[in-house]
Amino acid sequence: MADQKATNITWHGGHIGRPEREAALGQRGATIWLTGLSGSGKSTIAVAVEAELVKRGKLAYVLDGDNVRHGLNKNLGFSPADRTENIRRIAEVAKLFTDCGVLAFTSFISPYRADRAAARALFAPGDFVEVYVAADVATCEGRDPKGLYQQARAGKIPEFTGISAPYEEPEAPELVLDTSKQSVEESVNALVAYLEGKGYLSAQGRR
Ligand code: ADP
Repeated sequence: MADQKATNITWHGGHIGRPEREAALGQRGATIWLTGLSGSGKSTIAVAVEAELVKRGKLAYVLDGDNVRHGLNKNLGFSPADRTENIRRIAEVAKLFTDCGVLAFTSFISPYRADRAAARALFAPGDFVEVYVAADVATCEGRDPKGLYQQARAGKIPEFTGISAPYEEPEAPELVLDTSKQSVEESVNALVAYLEGKGYLSAQGRR
């Protein structure tokens, strides 16, 4: 099954291309890759930015960690190899969304630099926007919106990022949102302003 590689396959292009789709949508497709510890605010920011963009008539869509693990990646766990495969599949899906012209937000811890670099490598320059949702472990643990830190401290969740598994900070993200200092609204406004400033909210935006 998984180890049987498909052969004799050719990429099949359609009659229209990404520029036509982007012109129809009035925006540029991109993947906005949110990375950060559990509880740093990735999902909160992603769904709020999605709502704001849709309110402005833009097509945005959030690919969320838990939701993807319910379906596409339900056969994967949290070992380093499974985390790598989790990220690889998500990046490939986000790339399809990007080719559709959608502003796709991914909300995954994605703790390993190499995995994020591999995701970025799938995209043309400008199509991948890495956003570091920065908050220290103490802040995230203080929030603990899903009670996961408490369980991890009790030894009930093995390989928990920030507690018993590493988080490798981004070295050159396009944007940093320090949610230990910013309000949700400030973080959301900063991300929307970034996308607007870089031309993503217009089909004629800079490439
Ligand atoms: P993650 O998706 O990174 O695991 P969540 O979005 O599920 O994190 O949880 C983050 C928690 O932190 C939420 O309860 C949210 O209300 C709170 N929070 C406080 N300040 C911020 C901020 N500036 N940005 C995002 N979330 C924040």
